Amino acid sequence: MRKTIGIFAHVDAGKTTFSEQILYHAGVIRGQGPGNQPGAWLDTHALEQQRGITIFAEEAYFHWQDDIYYLIDTPGHVDFSGETQRIIGVLDYAILLVSGTAGVQAHTTTLFRLLQDQGVPTFIFVNKRDLATFQLPRVLGEIRDRLTADSLYLAGPTALLQPPEEVAEFVAERDEEFLLAYLEGEDTPELLRRHLIDLIKQRKCFPVTSGSALRDLGVKEFLDLFSLLTVTEYQVAADEPSFVGRVYKIRHEPDGNRLVFLKALAGTLQVRDEFRFDAEGQVVVEKVNTLRVYNGARYETRQRAVAGDVIAVTGLKTPVCGTVLTTDQIITPTQESSPLVPALRARVILQDDTPVDQCLQRLRLLSDEDPMLAVTFQEESGEILVSVMGRIQLEVLEEVIASRFGMAVTFGPPQVQYRETIAASVVGFGHFEPLRHYAEVQLRLEPNPRGKGITFASECHVDDLPLNYQRLIRSHVFDKTHRGVLTGAPLTDVNIVLQAGLAHEKHTAGGDFREATHRAIRQGLEKAESILLEPYYRFQIYVDEADLGRVIADIQRLQGTFDPPIHQGKTLYLEGRGPVATFMDYSVELVSFTKGRGSITCVFDGYEPCHNPEEVIASIGYDKDRDTANPSSSVFCAKGTSFIVPWYEAEKYMHTLK
Ligand code: GDP
Ligand code: MG
Repeated sequence: MRKTIGIFAHVDAGKTTFSEQILYHAGVIRGQGPGNQPGAWLDTHALEQQRGITIFAEEAYFHWQDDIYYLIDTPGHVDFSGETQRIIGVLDYAILLVSGTAGVQAHTTTLFRLLQDQGVPTFIFVNKRDLATFQLPRVLGEIRDRLTADSLYLAGPTALLQPPEEVAEFVAERDEEFLLAYLEGEDTPELLRRHLIDLIKQRKCFPVTSGSALRDLGVKEFLDLFSLLTVTEYQVAADEPSFVGRVYKIRHEPDGNRLVFLKALAGTLQVRDEFRFDAEGQVVVEKVNTLRVYNGARYETRQRAVAGDVIAVTGLKTPVCGTVLTTDQIITPTQESSPLVPALRARVILQDDTPVDQCLQRLRLLSDEDPMLAVTFQEESGEILVSVMGRIQLEVLEEVIASRFGMAVTFGPPQVQYRETIAASVVGFGHFEPLRHYAEVQLRLEPNPRGKGITFASECHVDDLPLNYQRLIRSHVFDKTHRGVLTGAPLTDVNIVLQAGLAHEKHTAGGDFREATHRAIRQGLEKAESILLEPYYRFQIYVDEADLGRVIADIQRLQGTFDPPIHQGKTLYLEGRGPVATFMDYSVELVSFTKGRGSITCVFDGYEPCHNPEEVIASIGYDKDRDTANPSSSVFCAKGTSFIVPWYEAEKYMHTLK
């Protein structure tokens, strides 16, 4: 069986040590025992070795029992979660490492939620058992309270040979078929194992074991247990006639060679197979040059890959992260929308004489690899802006740019990225009819649930507007970032419903529906009640009792909210939410007044109505009427002359309303 696994952990929980210990047992790393030099194998990037954290995901390949394993290492810091999330999408199983001394931390909870959101069955390994400060009962309690009530502690593979009563009870409580056998006294260990496999797959059971990655305690036992309790079904999928694979990562070799990493989901892929892509209406054909299976920085080439394999492909220029590749149809390489949105934006300040366009080109290479790092160039000011999740990503980015390109840059102060949405449904109209052109569009804008982004639907019958025009309107809804009217921030969380549209037999030309669609959205926004949104963090704070009063006062001052504090020994634990704008610098403040005894972890947690909209709107000073790139007016034609009608009068002229 082929199994793709990912290991997840809060920084410092021991992910690198654990991964290497596994590779050591599997015979991938020979000679030296692990622990001598943690990170030497998987953390190939010099910067990671220097910082001792894993920033870039790498893959490893090994055999255990009769199975082939692909291990994809994930970035440890939350600022790099874009990549983590794409990797989660291709995993069969996940292993979540929890430090047996630090316990379940804010980031552990975030990772567990990401895994659950994408339906990945998860095993938990409680690490650092060798330390005197290791506290299994406390950590198991935290796992139950903060992660899942369906966790099941298994001491090792022996727990499957002679299952303790509580294991059988756990399964019987969750599985009716097993319950019957259990009540009849017919529950063999093999039956129990089969039902456990199912429960784990359905995420009704999360096996927990413990050990020490550094001292090699319980790691081999974990592997044995894992291999007994996991199954995949790729053998069947491998026989399918056409190939399907999902791209989860893009990399560039120093010579510029583009590597497309993918997980094969069905069929077979061979060297010289071709993919066809739709690149803005043109079909481009790209051929697979080589197939590689990576182990750390090294790779082996293959002639073919089958369902279940994790491979890097060279020769493909068009696919992006998230693209599903298939050999039996033309592929549209669209980006998947991600719920993790970069919350901050900073200006790039060049510190050497690198030309701006070369700098831009290099940054675009990085954002091809990590779409969470958005790079924009502002024509007017000649500035390059990068969007990131948090401050640490900027620091790391500075070092990556220096070591990879030998280019010195710094960043201006990070600015919060606002969004806009609407409070209630509204209908927008757009008409575009300069001489010998024609298109009219009527769209209803409805508020979407928070975090859903822009969606599109059509209520328009194909007899009233042919399907090709409807598709065109849909594509124009998504072909640009629509600007809100309050601050010019990107519009989000709006469902755009096509109610009606009109084309002209002779005069409707290429860009006409584009104009009409964009104007209709903008006209709707002019009429709507707009809401300014700002990014929020979810935070987890640990402080001593003596500092609690100050922390609570600070949270209130920073417009945050929090749940009742929980005692954990002498330390208090607080969880809450607050605006990125006010909390982005709080960790420095907290660490300083608690003299290092307090800590805060912040994770991006979606957008909420802004806490100080008037202030923000005034400081941005956006003038919607002067934003000529985003008109809300319509263009009509009478007696051979075209004329512009402002948004507030446009409806009187619309043809769909006649
Ligand atoms: P990562 O940040 O999650 O990749 O963690 P690392 O594998 O780099 O480990 C972080 C630190 O914890 C290193 O100093 C390791 O030597 C140490 N460490 C990892 N596993 C264990 C363990 O089982 N016991 C002890 N005592 N230390 C460990
Ligand atoms: Mg690491």
